[in-house]
Amino acid sequence: RKADVECGIVVLGSGPGGYTAAFRAADLGLDTVLVERYETLGGVCLNVGCIPSKALLHAAEVIDAAAHAKDFGVSFGAPKIELDALRAYKEKVVGQLTKGLSGMAKQRKVRVVTGTGAFVSPHEIEVTAADGGRTLVKFEQAIIAAGSQALKLPGFPWDDPRVMDSTDALELAEVPAKLLVVGGGIIGLEMATVYRGLGAEVTVVEMADQIMPGADRDLVKPLADRLKKQGITVHLETRAARVEPQKKGLKVEFEGANAPEAGVYDRILVAVGRAPNGGKVGAGEAGVEVTERGFVPVDRQMRTNVPHIFAIGDLVGNPMLAHKATHEARLAAEVAAGEKREWVARVIPSVAYTDPEIAWAGVTETEARAKGLKVGVGKFPWAASGRAIGLGRTEGFTKLVFDEATHRILGAGIVGVHAGDLIAELALAIEMGAEAGDIAATIHPHPTLSESVAMASEVYEGTITDLY
Ligand code: FAD
Repeated sequence: RKADVECGIVVLGSGPGGYTAAFRAADLGLDTVLVERYETLGGVCLNVGCIPSKALLHAAEVIDAAAHAKDFGVSFGAPKIELDALRAYKEKVVGQLTKGLSGMAKQRKVRVVTGTGAFVSPHEIEVTAADGGRTLVKFEQAIIAAGSQALKLPGFPWDDPRVMDSTDALELAEVPAKLLVVGGGIIGLEMATVYRGLGAEVTVVEMADQIMPGADRDLVKPLADRLKKQGITVHLETRAARVEPQKKGLKVEFEGANAPEAGVYDRILVAVGRAPNGGKVGAGEAGVEVTERGFVPVDRQMRTNVPHIFAIGDLVGNPMLAHKATHEARLAAEVAAGEKREWVARVIPSVAYTDPEIAWAGVTETEARAKGLKVGVGKFPWAASGRAIGLGRTEGFTKLVFDEATHRILGAGIVGVHAGDLIAELALAIEMGAEAGDIAATIHPHPTLSESVAMASEVYEGTITDLY
């Protein structure tokens, strides 16, 4: 069959991985086609992930800040929430970014083909549009960037609209009186914060023995304390075992060491992880290997086992984060364009945009100890930070993990407001092989939360013993 579209490189999927790869490839002179099943570019992150969730978290943060303003003598009335306006705000934020991407694609002459793509041979992808129309794209090289989707727990009544995944929850159809969040990871807790801010009574159940498994236990503690203060109930070591739709609400039975009694909830959000889409793109037709779980294995240049086909983003492995996808995207595009590059990930920062935020980069203290690395820790409590005191947010701390032999920084964890912004400096420090003395000697602006980074290094070096 004759190709409808021929190109140097095709990118399958337009999330942060896909659009970055397509733009970089085009900038490097490759004739580029971008295939996306939805009308808007941007993938999960822009449409139903990072961006809308942060727009809604901003609203929750303002509501919370207004409630706490009475601490310094300012009182506001009870918040009046207009859901239509909040939804419109979120959509405006998303629309601005996705439209921007369309413009950037045009500017670079990246041809966008709308429809669901699947390999039909090692050099062809067939794209099926919503109206059934088919386009055969013939390519020299390809980058698979088809991302991931929410894991749907089996046995849950998914045809009931009151059972939601994160995409449904972000639609904000209503604020339920009682919301159950299944899964106490980053996405579950961010959405719990949004819905609590908007007035829902929120219960979270988590199978592990701490919320946000993966983060150090001490980092999680200030968040757990604040969730409690905000009225979010958390049950650890608990599994939502059975869900029974009723006329009014959903009856949920729990199992596990700390399982509460069965309860009735108006809505349930299931946020138990994401499944890679590697198994859904006809990879076998191109000879591309896919694991049983749907991940596509790649080498240090993001090449799959088929050398002219690359894969990036959520579908190549954890952590499933947008900034990992964009980084891999640039690498794949550059290698496809003939540049000699490779990448070994030492530092991929993780951030939970909860209140307080939790951020970490490099090795966590738990990982370091489990691996038997000889490490030491420098910890600076924000109760000793003038800025944190002024903000009324002293529950945070900054913790740095150093190699005992060289005093090089290996990892960092921060809990507190703006932890996500503060972690960037430490990602750079780890990448550059900075030592505790380098960080301590770097002048940080006063009074900022960033001083806690230098102070934590000084604590480690022993140059401050009392905190002032
Ligand atoms: P995706 O963004 O999943 O994009 C894949 C694209 O491919 C989609 O547009 C999809 O429609 C398209 N596609 C798939 N199959 C086909 C096909 N066969 N044909 C055509 N098109 C196809 N990450 C962060 O770093 N920070 C955050 O704050 C953050 N918040 C999040 C909040 C939520 C609620 C969720 C769900 C995720 C969040 N993430 C966050 C994760 C982040 O969204 C992902 O890591 C990121 O989107 C992955 O990018 P990607 O390019 O690999 O794939």
